[in-house]
Amino acid sequence: TVLPDDWDARAKRHSFFGFTDLPSIAERGTVVLTRGEGPYVIDTEGRRYLDANSGLWNMIAGFDHPELIATAQAQYARFPGYHAFFGRMADTTVELSETLAEVAPFEDAKVFYTNSGSEANDTMVKMLWFLHAAEGRPQARKILTRGNAYHGVTVVSASMTGKPYNSVFGLPLPGFIHLTCPHFWREGRDGESEAAFTARLAAELEEVIAREGADTIAGFFAEPVQGAGGVIPPSEGYFDAILPVLRAHGIPVIADEVITGFGRTGELWGCESYGFVPDAIISSKALTAGFFPMGAVILGPELSDRMSRAVDAIEEFPHGFTASGHPVGCAIALKAIELVRGGLLDDVRRLTPRFEAGLAKLAAHPHIGEWRGRGLMGALEAVKDKATKTPWDSHLSVSERIANTCTDHGLICRPLGQSIVLCPPFIMTDAQMDEMFDKLGGALDEVFAGLA
Ligand code: PLP
Repeated sequence: TVLPDDWDARAKRHSFFGFTDLPSIAERGTVVLTRGEGPYVIDTEGRRYLDANSGLWNMIAGFDHPELIATAQAQYARFPGYHAFFGRMADTTVELSETLAEVAPFEDAKVFYTNSGSEANDTMVKMLWFLHAAEGRPQARKILTRGNAYHGVTVVSASMTGKPYNSVFGLPLPGFIHLTCPHFWREGRDGESEAAFTARLAAELEEVIAREGADTIAGFFAEPVQGAGGVIPPSEGYFDAILPVLRAHGIPVIADEVITGFGRTGELWGCESYGFVPDAIISSKALTAGFFPMGAVILGPELSDRMSRAVDAIEEFPHGFTASGHPVGCAIALKAIELVRGGLLDDVRRLTPRFEAGLAKLAAHPHIGEWRGRGLMGALEAVKDKATKTPWDSHLSVSERIANTCTDHGLICRPLGQSIVLCPPFIMTDAQMDEMFDKLGGALDEVFAGLA
């Protein structure tokens, strides 16, 4: 029998963990959390962990923000739930759409709500299929994404996601095409300049479109900075090089801003950091500062116009979720956006130089191959040999060991492939950021000394 306070055994007995390396938790036990304090989370034993990943990239305002909590409480008291079907919708949902239209990087946006980023990507794909069919192009169903992309876990969004997350399920579905990941450091060929690498990727895109037929392609999806692929900013000039190719063929460009949206890269939207305007934005996570599960498809003027005409023609878009546009989620999102515009975005900009300096300092370590990042998302890539960029044998799972050592020292950070990823809450103080890098630096020394 399990003792009532044996949280590790209780957690393992009746709950499945997603995305969890089971040998690693078999060895070290689970962490069961009870509450949060600013950027810290506190477990059942009273241990405090500085969460360098903002939960899952989403808790940008930390874990106990009083205004977000009060907003949720007030909305629960006034109108605790409603849908957005059959021509009915909560007033708060209408207000959030107006605010999203105001902050979107294009005029005349129109919003469709979901409960998650995965569902928002699925919804976008269904919208593209729906509108291409309504416009007389039912064959336009293929979806272009990139290697290492992460767009979610539902059947369609998993098909858009790069390896290794989908192959165990027999995915991707047919018609989901993955282009080369724009990671110059890893994907660049010997002697190839970054400019030549970028040009090669644009040429590859042109070839894929020619091979597949532009009229069979429904849309192109990209994270402005790839997140779960290991924080990979695109190579220099990447979007400037590929967007004209997509535009020339009339292929809609969708920015998956589930991580990058609402300030993470130092602008309100990641696409702004890279100087482009997409045809639609996929949002979630920081949209509600992680205080409510919610996603949104935000269509720019052309797609919203085409979508509205397609819906008029067919008289209904037969899609939506019970909790689409949930009024509590919408109230929280309105407050979260107010907080981002009212100071959190400035905090990102203020903290970024300290963040980059911390990453750059740790990248001097003999077993760190590169640091990369944009705004407050960054990664350190562990290598066996720095000069040749040779990775560690994957069975050693060096990044897992580093993350586990960090956890032992009260820091939560995320191993992704051979990288350690950091994505701190925007409310971190300078001292907390220094604590984060001190603890991570100590863990790097400890783990690499053990491997030498
Ligand atoms: N898109 C991106 C860029 C993501 O990072 C994620 C989740 O990490 C998703 C989509 C999927 O979102 P969710 O986990 O809410 O389904």
